[in-house]
Amino acid sequence: MQVRITVSFPYEAPVSQSLFDRASAVTPGGVNSPVRAFRAVGGTPRFMVSGAGPYLTDADGREYVDLVCSWGPMILGHSHPEVIAAVQDAVARGTSFGTPGAGEVELAEEIVARIEPVEQVRLVSSGTEATMSAIRLARGFTGRPKVIKFAGCYHGHVDALLAAAGSGVATFGLPDTPGVTGAQAGDTIVLPYNDLDAVRAAFAAHPGEIACVITEAAPGNMGVVPPLPGFNQGLKDLCASHGALYISDEVMTGFRVSKAGWYGIDGVRPDLMTFGKVMGGGFPAAAFGGRADVMAHLAPAGPVYQAGTLSGNPIATAAGVAQLRLLDDAAYEKVDAVSAEVRGLVTAALAKEGVAHRVQAAGNMFTVFFTDAEVTDYDAAKAQDSFRFTAFFHSMLSQGVYLPPSAFESWFVSTAHDTAAVERIAAALPAAARAAAEATA
Ligand code: PLP
Repeated sequence: MQVRITVSFPYEAPVSQSLFDRASAVTPGGVNSPVRAFRAVGGTPRFMVSGAGPYLTDADGREYVDLVCSWGPMILGHSHPEVIAAVQDAVARGTSFGTPGAGEVELAEEIVARIEPVEQVRLVSSGTEATMSAIRLARGFTGRPKVIKFAGCYHGHVDALLAAAGSGVATFGLPDTPGVTGAQAGDTIVLPYNDLDAVRAAFAAHPGEIACVITEAAPGNMGVVPPLPGFNQGLKDLCASHGALYISDEVMTGFRVSKAGWYGIDGVRPDLMTFGKVMGGGFPAAAFGGRADVMAHLAPAGPVYQAGTLSGNPIATAAGVAQLRLLDDAAYEKVDAVSAEVRGLVTAALAKEGVAHRVQAAGNMFTVFFTDAEVTDYDAAKAQDSFRFTAFFHSMLSQGVYLPPSAFESWFVSTAHDTAAVERIAAALPAAARAAAEATA
């Protein structure tokens, strides 16, 4: 898809451009994860060389206030000295043993201590592995094949979950990427988000067949679309009354929106939960966990197989433990306050230019939707004027503020976003809001 850029670039990024050219020769699309390629907004992706506190520096030597935070993990900012020290200490002792180690026990204990429904936890290396394994476990535990997911919720690139078909109607999932067969996606039922009636109807249509409902605890992958009051509890109750498991995917929200993630905010008790991002402190560490009687079905305790050469890697667990131990109540208060401040600044700037917008938050995660209407599901998110975001994004980028390069993502802040960083954001907003106002479809 060609995206028309409606702002001019006040500077070029020659080193990033040359790296992107080299990358494109040896890597599909020049990137190792699609959204990094700037396809939704156009332009040259910035290749970052270092991060410190709230700032990133690109290969051309330009500094940006970072509002992506590695898509969530860097909640203490970049290169936090205590996390770096823990990593240096761990790396000096070796990088991987392929045996159990103390670090993974500490990280598991930290997770279990913070999140009461998690009685047992298994460490893996990515959020994708966590959701894939949790679904396999749910199927193994219940002996049932089908999974309910919601349109607009992303749970990683698990074959069975790459089905987001179905706009407003209950439907069997159709694979929405080549390479996923109908058989792999055929047991996935995709429903509109925030629609309990659709979930009720699906349970009625498939008695005894649904293993689990998986949902983002508070979705951030269609932009931030919080659950309507009672939605998560309704899911939990429907699962309980139909013998299915309720899986809350907290890969994004876990340890980010509170000490106990979204569970710490809405208190709805899942059977299984998945985690990633913040718990790895910037390294590949993720997890799934929950009810001990369900987790007991996992190998080697039980028959459901799951494994990983680098699971519980000593560097990743050291970084995760160090980061989680620094995340006390004061840290979350700080991140919440910065988030509220930035949201207020964005709203004021866009309102001043008369740009229709709506800032939606789930705890300290937030998205600026370019629409007046409340966004409660994926269809509503897609109805926004995303061409205005494109103009807004490029104006902010050219002024040294790095936003997620898509209108359908959460923005993230950290404890390191201090007054100076917020002032830089504030200084960039008036021109960006004007660019958004002047943008045309
Ligand atoms: N679940 C959610 C809610 C996510 O946001 C993501 C990634 O963004 C994943 C799962 C997949 O995690 P990973 O990218 O570590 O595989």
